[in-house]
Amino acid sequence: MVACILVIEDDEASRMLLVYLLEADGYRVHSASNGREGVRAALEHWPDLILSDLQMPVMDGYEVARLLHADPGWRRAPLVAVTAFSMPGDREKALEVGFQDHISKPIDPERFVRQVEAYLSPASRAVRPPR
Ligand code: MN
Repeated sequence: MVACILVIEDDEASRMLLVYLLEADGYRVHSASNGREGVRAALEHWPDLILSDLQMPVMDGYEVARLLHADPGWRRAPLVAVTAFSMPGDREKALEVGFQDHISKPIDPERFVRQVEAYLSPASRAVRPPR
């Protein structure tokens, strides 16, 4: 079955772009506009992959990763940070709290879905016509 992906991003335009790109390729997508909503959605929908911004109001992405990893009820899914943070050490800090990867914003709309598909099992990837 095609994967369910959770997008956690406070910036509406960025969130809508990610949701649009993923849905256009056939993915089922849930979205949340801050970390607290994101943690709730992760525990409710059991997504196959979580894409999260780091800097957000209410609860940031680092806290999302810490809370999820500490929750025995969480069915673990890859966590990928999608963030404009580009200071030395940011990537390491994200990996330290449990993110598998870190994709810098602005994203490349032509490549983004393929980048994150690397974290899905082949059977749950969307099927696209070859180009
Ligand atoms: Mn943000």
